[in-house]
Amino acid sequence: MRVAAKAKLNLALAVVGKRDDGYHELRSVFVTLDLADDVRVAPHKRLEVRNTLPLDGEDLAARAVTALARATGREPFAFVSIRKRIPLAAGMGGGSSDAAATLHGLAQLWRVDADLMRIGAELGSDVPFFASGARAAFVSGRGELVRALAPPRDPIDVVVLRPPLRLPTAEVFGSFTMSDRVAASRVEQLVSAFEQGRVTPDVIRTYAANDLLAAAERQCEAITTWRTAAAARGIPLFLTGSGPTLFAVADDRGDAVRVGRILTRAGMRAHPHKICV
Ligand code: ATP
Repeated sequence: MRVAAKAKLNLALAVVGKRDDGYHELRSVFVTLDLADDVRVAPHKRLEVRNTLPLDGEDLAARAVTALARATGREPFAFVSIRKRIPLAAGMGGGSSDAAATLHGLAQLWRVDADLMRIGAELGSDVPFFASGARAAFVSGRGELVRALAPPRDPIDVVVLRPPLRLPTAEVFGSFTMSDRVAASRVEQLVSAFEQGRVTPDVIRTYAANDLLAAAERQCEAITTWRTAAAARGIPLFLTGSGPTLFAVADDRGDAVRVGRILTRAGMRAHPHKICV
């Protein structure tokens, strides 16, 4: 079973509070990106996960196998191979997407009908979005509440920039303070724009905002340097997730190539992509 595990961008992300269970309560507009890991799932006599990139700890895909096995009363045995294209700890949800793809692939392989979004919520806060299969969604709670949004008729062009370092999510949340918050009303306005079918590149540029930006900038100087350098060239950059990945929103493919060139010439690693795919 072969499943594409797409990356995501958060067009807008608000932290609305801290919950009694220690998690932060979020509201965010998630969209898929045309960059994906290749996940293959096959029957096996034990649990084995191979990943083309070395990870610090257990692969989230292994935890996905165990969670689905527990929920469906099966032995947690499967072979999962992951060809990684989504950068690690970049704010693009790569591990969560691999876990969701593993759940989908395995559910088909085992022919079981399980609530993959609920099972996914135990694995990580971005997993329910990927498990939902939506191309755009309003995500809230600690990530378990996913309301699919109708994507624009055509995918939207963006330029994705990746400062060459990893930024662990926990470090950014550790530095976050409630006084950093700026994004709550922007999230609501962007959700309304999706609901009313009036999402354009301009609308995204107007409402894109991320409450984790100030904390991410405190942890990672390159984010400030890159955003300042891009702004000096008339290009606003936005943060996805807890960073460090940044993105610009382009008017069309030609504009994305043009913006990508300007940023690359200024020393930033920038690549044209599409969202809501
Ligand atoms: P998010 O935006 O969901 O917070 P992220 O994009 O910043 O996540 P990931 O690359 O998904 O970060 O994962 C962060 C950590 O999770 C990695 O440092 C890695 O050790 C661990 N991890 C476990 N399984 C995977 C996997 N299959 N792919 C990537 N990371 C994984």
